[in-house]
Amino acid sequence: MRPIQMVDTKTQYQKIKTEVDNAVLQVIESSAFINGKPVQDFCNSLSAYLSVKHTIPCANGTDALQIAMMALGLQPGDEVLTPSFTFIATTEVIALLNLTPVFVDVDPKTFCIDPALLEKAITPKTKAIVPVHLYGQMAPMEEIMKIAEKHKLWVIEDNAQAIGSDYTFSDGRKQKAGTIGHIGATSFYPSKNLGAFGDAGAIFTNDDALADRMKMVANHGQSRRYYHDIVGCNSRLDTIQAAILDIKLKHLDEYIAAREAAADFYDNALSGHAMITTPFRASYSRHVFHQYTILLDDGKDPVMLRNGLNSFLAEHKIPSMIYYPVPGHRQKMFEQFNVASQSLPVTDWLTERVISLPMHTELDKEQLSFITGKILEYLKH
Ligand SMILES: *Cc1c(COP(=O)(O)O)cnc(C)c1O
Repeated sequence: MRPIQMVDTKTQYQKIKTEVDNAVLQVIESSAFINGKPVQDFCNSLSAYLSVKHTIPCANGTDALQIAMMALGLQPGDEVLTPSFTFIATTEVIALLNLTPVFVDVDPKTFCIDPALLEKAITPKTKAIVPVHLYGQMAPMEEIMKIAEKHKLWVIEDNAQAIGSDYTFSDGRKQKAGTIGHIGATSFYPSKNLGAFGDAGAIFTNDDALADRMKMVANHGQSRRYYHDIVGCNSRLDTIQAAILDIKLKHLDEYIAAREAAADFYDNALSGHAMITTPFRASYSRHVFHQYTILLDDGKDPVMLRNGLNSFLAEHKIPSMIYYPVPGHRQKMFEQFNVASQSLPVTDWLTERVISLPMHTELDKEQLSFITGKILEYLKH
């Protein structure tokens, strides 16, 4: 059996090696390292894939979120509604820009922001909502957009984990993840579903004025060369990364299908077990399985059970991860906002029970049955 990895980007690369190597060499030979032609080519390909008007390239997913929020002209103290149950980047940039993160609890099934609680968290200071499509399962965007419209709030989708997912609205209309809110932000961190060979990110919008503003923000607030109208930052997508991403984008649907097949295998093996809850697949969207995250509970000590599985699997050379061991509202970083005492029961409940299993495009049946066999063996003890 091949060694089991949490993410196997190397085997994936080997399958497209010739094409990727040639593209990288071409960039080196052209020496157009900054804003070379592949950057615009990739943005055009991605806009076409997502059916979105504008794709703005940037350096990483955290910058994508930051640039989006900077472009909206939010003022210090403005409140931004966001989950606590997410990777820290989502909430960190809110605080970095002197905005106030207001944590909203998540739905225990989807792990995404709960629209019923969202509306209750709105105050006169609320200006924006940042839903996160966690683990590849989309947040309920139709309900979120209705609330946003009613209260005139901006919506920035954190789409770092769900690129390629579709959302089906109640009238049957379909739209890609990251193109439903006013702005979508994504990451091409190597382990993401569309991963670069280094850091990379992008921002999406159908709004021309917002697109112009975000391009300016990402380029030192520049309106024309050396004329700087607003305070911005420097965030670019590297030409080499763009060339690689343009090749990998052609394989994205195939990569998603491979992740779904691995998820199906896990579901079949694990879903009947009394102590395991397998991932919920919402009817409104396609789960693209950035992570395959299960909940463990024996009705006694779920943390001990979960941490025990993590160690047991490690003993058998099977990696597993806790995403994320400390939710945002319990991070020291946010002490100033007095959020630790905030009641986010579902977030705390999930944090004690989640464990993510190996998930990538190169898992084979032998590996998957070894993993699921060991999980079931552990739960027999
Ligand atoms: C990865 C990730 C980010 C940040 O992306 P980087 O490219 O690492 O900066 C933001 N939000 C979520 C939910 C992520 O998973």
